[in-house]
Amino acid sequence: MSRTVHLEWFDKQGPRAGQRDALAHDRGLRFRCTQCGSCCTGPSGYVKFTDDEAVSMAATLGVPIDEFMRTYTHETPMGRSLTERKTEHGYDCVFLDRETVPGKAVCGLYDARPAQCRTWPFWKTNLSSEHAWRRAAIDCPGIDRGQRVVPSDEIRRQRDIVEM
Ligand code: SF4
Repeated sequence: MSRTVHLEWFDKQGPRAGQRDALAHDRGLRFRCTQCGSCCTGPSGYVKFTDDEAVSMAATLGVPIDEFMRTYTHETPMGRSLTERKTEHGYDCVFLDRETVPGKAVCGLYDARPAQCRTWPFWKTNLSSEHAWRRAAIDCPGIDRGQRVVPSDEIRRQRDIVEM
């Protein structure tokens, strides 16, 4: 069953489109990932992927696709998902790497990561209202951070890739 998500807030043109910030309104939203890993952990959830993305992830790891599916994915009520690992931080994505870069949590499959990860935080649920965007910012310190404004067209393109 698909959820009804209202997109009037972000799509509205004018001073309130996207963000209150005088620099950013009408142009987009500020976002710069801090590599905190917060979006890749927390309560148990799911990371969905397409068949092509599975092939790409398996190729990046250098393992056959059946081994990839067996080792790194599992079935959830929302469909097949990447597996999680219980850590002191919560349920980490199996590919979240907290070792390689000191003080950071990075994706071990960054170039092959699924669209669900690629498009964060520009999901429909986060763009449905200013309140939703602010709520997402509580857990994602990259939201409204940095000087880079992601253009509205690019945000809409990412928003419409996955049903999140
Ligand atoms: S929660 Fe936000 S800042 Fe942290 S890793 Fe995810 S996208 Fe980057």
